[in-house]
Amino acid sequence: MIIVMKAGAGKKDRDDVVKRIKELGYKPHIIHGTTRDVIGAIGDERGKLVLQSLENMHGVENVVPILQPYKLASSEVKREPSRVRVGDSVLIGGSQVVMMAGPCAVENETQIIETAKMVKEAGAVILRGGAFKPRTSPYSFQGLEEEGLKLLAKARELTGLPFVTEVINPESVDLVADYADMLQIGARNSQNFALLKKVGQCGKPVLLKRGMAMTIQEFLMSAEYIMSEGNQGVVLCERGIRTFETATRNTLDLAAVPVLKTKTHLPVVIDPSHSTGNYHYVAAMCYAAVAAGADGLIVEVHPDPEHASSDGPQSLKPKKFEAMMQKLRLFAEADGRTL
Ligand code: PEP
Ligand code: MN
Repeated sequence: MIIVMKAGAGKKDRDDVVKRIKELGYKPHIIHGTTRDVIGAIGDERGKLVLQSLENMHGVENVVPILQPYKLASSEVKREPSRVRVGDSVLIGGSQVVMMAGPCAVENETQIIETAKMVKEAGAVILRGGAFKPRTSPYSFQGLEEEGLKLLAKARELTGLPFVTEVINPESVDLVADYADMLQIGARNSQNFALLKKVGQCGKPVLLKRGMAMTIQEFLMSAEYIMSEGNQGVVLCERGIRTFETATRNTLDLAAVPVLKTKTHLPVVIDPSHSTGNYHYVAAMCYAAVAAGADGLIVEVHPDPEHASSDGPQSLKPKKFEAMMQKLRLFAEADGRTL
């Protein structure tokens, strides 16, 4: 249920409602809106009608059921789009198209620092790079682990770019959250519920990738796992789904952007690298993503893709990335946004 507070309701009214929700055995989640607050009361669906009695409380406008199975993520609970802050300087979900860029994996100090400098120069505002890599084969490069996190932190110190990096199991969430500005949940872990709950408690924003065989509803249920633990800083990432098509690594579901925008208030970003698997197609999908209304992009860039330890074929060289950014800026401007 959603308890919609009156526009002029004060803190005391809100506190009283929160207290009553708890007494009835539900978990309150306050969502601050521009004109009024709403409070989500989450818990057992079967007895939820008892919450209707809150309508008589001071400061309450009305109590309405949330029809979707995802509650906190639903646009029913919050109509205005959410903005998610990353580091001190970046807001995902505003008028700026947020570019995150960097290598698939952190390989060594020179590679990550040089790449960070080059993507920043071209206009990226968040650095990406995997320190823990969830590889399909146990024999493939698994990442530099904590050493990789330290190198990302060094790149941040030198460039000022906050960074997003993947966390692959609940045990390493605290470690990754100590270093990173944003935690990434990869496609292969998008329904690892223990991991989702743990990142829900970590206090850092989360970039949640869509699983390769996940429906939009399942995707939003995974976001709900994170949010129900108290973390409202979730950004959704469409990174391609598996279909019968083999000409691209995955099939980019660009329609997911407008669909998600009607169903949720959370920001949505596109990953053109993992969805196509081929650097030739990355720029076109970036332009299309901006036209579709994506709030940002996450793009793999490597100074020497031929020798990359992972995902070389889909990584752009810095020069190509820079040229793409120049054209992308025009698409963003055409839509009244910045890059
Ligand atoms: C990645 O970002 O390098 C990655 C492994 O992505 P995904 O989980 O989308 O495959
Ligand atoms: Mn990759």
